[in-house]
Amino acid sequence: MPSRSTSIAETNLSETKRRIYLDHAATSWPKADGVTDAMVEFFSSVGASASRGNYASAMKASELVRSLRHKLARFIHAESESCISFHGGCTHALNCVIHGLVGSSKSIGDGSHLLLSAVEHNAVIRPLLVAAKSCNATVEEVPTDRNGLLDADEVISRINNETRLVALSHVSNVTGAVQPIAEIGAAVAEANRSRADFKQILFLCDAAQSFGYLPINVASLGVHALAAPAHKGCGGPPGIGMLYVSPKWHSAIQPWMQGGTGDDGRSDEMPESMPAKLEPGTMNLPAIAGWLAAMESMATPNELDDSSQKLAALSQRLHVGLNGIDGIKVFGQPGPLPIASLDFGPALPPDDAAAILDSEFGIEVRSGHHCAARLHSHLGTETAGTLRISGGHGTTSDEIDVVVAAVAEIAAQ
Ligand code: PLP
Repeated sequence: MPSRSTSIAETNLSETKRRIYLDHAATSWPKADGVTDAMVEFFSSVGASASRGNYASAMKASELVRSLRHKLARFIHAESESCISFHGGCTHALNCVIHGLVGSSKSIGDGSHLLLSAVEHNAVIRPLLVAAKSCNATVEEVPTDRNGLLDADEVISRINNETRLVALSHVSNVTGAVQPIAEIGAAVAEANRSRADFKQILFLCDAAQSFGYLPINVASLGVHALAAPAHKGCGGPPGIGMLYVSPKWHSAIQPWMQGGTGDDGRSDEMPESMPAKLEPGTMNLPAIAGWLAAMESMATPNELDDSSQKLAALSQRLHVGLNGIDGIKVFGQPGPLPIASLDFGPALPPDDAAAILDSEFGIEVRSGHHCAARLHSHLGTETAGTLRISGGHGTTSDEIDVVVAAVAEIAAQ
């Protein structure tokens, strides 16, 4: 997957402090090779806006947008480039599809049933609750086990005649659990087969934690919409994300925001064509240039296998190491991504443990609820949340060993 020129362990925060960055579930660091250069290059030699001019640099900016759209469409096996729209991040993309469904032809409205899970991030929960309230829809939450893993049958059994939206994350940002999206997608497809057009269910996948780490094929997953950021698994910049919408849903999703769309600006109305109808305003072009560079540094399929094996080995090492430590609870299981959440018990709140890891060991991890508060009532960590360790593409096995040893030392005190 994206290559990094500098391993994290070699990168000094200052002359005196080694920095072990294990907060990749929040954002990747360092960024993939070429990202910073591409962003600087954009400012220094392009600088113009896309789809808004016939001069050479404006066309160069438009070309960057086209190239990235093309790459992303291929990356997730989308039907066409028109299925990909750019947004100000994954949160923005999720809002766009959730609010875009209110009042549309295949709408969510009075009496609709919307399904999410206890694992979801606030980027799904909050817009869904606001959208449901605005149109008198109901929201049901599917419970999870103590590792943040959903049972596909539990989700499927809750789909009813009024269900219009199923919104689930691909990977939990708290425990790294990979959800059975394809199984649920197949059940949604089966339910949709016998339904009238206005009763169809849209299956939305929040791929914030999987995009750039796991292979994504929207057809095999059976999702109709999928949102992803540039700044996590791809190693790209923050402030840019994408939304995939399957052709079947293009006309149903209404523009959530209105504004200028460049070339097609004569009408007072937003264009009806995708992706223009979801992309008002000037794009974050330096971030587009950076994301494109990150995608260009992505591995070939063979290297992708190597990278997946490396991440899975790190996950195994992390979980085996942590599970061997007395006095802590570990949430999550060995899997494709090196993520785990910890609870040291009431004597050591996660914020304090994270502060010790940083100040005494130079290890940067996140503590708290990770914007997924509902999950913590299933883990028994609702008061203070957990301490989350999350590695990414640049993480080394030495770094995993260092954090496991540091956690053991803290737990023994
Ligand atoms: N969904 C999940 C599962 C996440 O972990 C995050 C970010 O942490 C988001 C959505 C939102 O992503 P962004 O902050 O890039 O918009």
